[in-house]
Amino acid sequence: MSMLFIDGKQVPASSGQSIPVYSPVSGEAYAEIGRGLSADVDSAVAAARSAVNGEWGQYSATQRGRILVEIGVRVLQNIEELAAIEAKDTGKPVALARKDIEALARYFEFYGSAADKIHGEVIPYLSGYSVSVVREPCGVVGHIIPWNYPAQMLGRTIAPALAAGNASIVKPAEDACMTSLRFAQIAHDAGLPAGALNIVTGYGREAGAALAGHPGINLMTFTGSPEVGVAIQTAAAANYVKCVLELGGKCPQVVFEDADLEKAVPILVGAIIQNAGQTCSAGSRVLIQRSIYDKAVTLIAERFSQMRVGLPESNPDCGPIITRAQFGRVQKFIEECRASDLPVVAQAKLDANLPENGYYVQPVVFGPVPRDHKLAREEVFGPVLAILPFDDEDDAVALANGTDYGLVASVWTENGARQARMARRLEGGQVFINCYGAGGGVELPFGGIRKSGHGREKGLLAFDEFTVTKTVVNHFS
Ligand code: ADP
Repeated sequence: MSMLFIDGKQVPASSGQSIPVYSPVSGEAYAEIGRGLSADVDSAVAAARSAVNGEWGQYSATQRGRILVEIGVRVLQNIEELAAIEAKDTGKPVALARKDIEALARYFEFYGSAADKIHGEVIPYLSGYSVSVVREPCGVVGHIIPWNYPAQMLGRTIAPALAAGNASIVKPAEDACMTSLRFAQIAHDAGLPAGALNIVTGYGREAGAALAGHPGINLMTFTGSPEVGVAIQTAAAANYVKCVLELGGKCPQVVFEDADLEKAVPILVGAIIQNAGQTCSAGSRVLIQRSIYDKAVTLIAERFSQMRVGLPESNPDCGPIITRAQFGRVQKFIEECRASDLPVVAQAKLDANLPENGYYVQPVVFGPVPRDHKLAREEVFGPVLAILPFDDEDDAVALANGTDYGLVASVWTENGARQARMARRLEGGQVFINCYGAGGGVELPFGGIRKSGHGREKGLLAFDEFTVTKTVVNHFS
């Protein structure tokens, strides 16, 4: 059974109980993780607090930065091992897992190099006063992360937290926590002091809820479903703890009649097929101007039909869905779409001889999807693409912004003025013009509005979340 990682050591779960981990590839149980409970969260919070008040809290920004950069180096040295763990745990193609581990390393390089550049401000004030605004760590940070990009999510949330001088407690998803556990040991070996990073595995409703509602934390970050996001924010609110929430999307890719379709189509398809559509920023709605609708749909169908679903080692375009439960949800969604007579535009191919009990969904494109259909509005979190026609720019904007979510959008047009207008009018945390940036983009601030959550991670803006300011007013005459 895998251990928890608390106070610089691998420790068993206090419950003595385990949770089975199933391979998405075969549906078979292949490992067990410790079932952490609130007592384990208590230990992790105590260890993190000691780190903040002790050695870790005394380190200069330069010292912290050096350790983080060294962690990045060691992640890259162990990239093959970590990518294999990630691919096995999630079922994703090994090549994608490798990119995810590279991104994990990038987070540590980026934030490690930035640790000593978290500057404050000086404010001109009344005569005889000097005023400075200093940035301090929040203290102990709780992080609950999902299973879709376990390595990337880990890096994205803990690297800026640690760079700013906080100590972290991570509750990885019970379905995919092997990379986090291996990473914690690597980080410790690279010089991260005991207690600065703690990993408590367990169920969301047990270890996760205990962490979110813990009075000893100072900041909570969560990436996952909107429903759980609300539960976490509610639990944290009882202790007056701020939450950074990233809760998914129904991201539009808007294609105008003057788009370069040859360039656009592979990216439009890739933005939904990557990671089997299990991406918050998946481009799950393609909106096409009516005048080129048929032409664009034909090209998308051609491309999509060439996509392959297969085993991680064969580096297909798409792997299995993460869990049996999630697989059931995606299949049900597809069945409902079929039952409502949505036209099928294309389907991807399943490789022959896939294990019978693996969680393989056949990726599918539906279109035209009526605007009030659930596929036009709700997140599937699977390889299911909705295509919708639009008339003109105003119509495109209304359609693109017309869901509860607001995370990422893209626009495809060669018209510069339209690019600028659309960038202004599309709602969400990121807008891509003639490209799509799902994944990666360590340097680029990311986050949502409305049901997609709030707060910003990635880029230097993340430090606004992981620090608190203190205004120091000095009256010297
Ligand atoms: P998904 O719907 O993508 O599976 P969830 O939002 O259910 O994602 O889970 C994301 C993370 O939230 C996981 O680490 C999970 O264990 C955790 N989680 C689930 N329920 C709760 C809860 N009630 N309180 C705290 N964490 C939870």
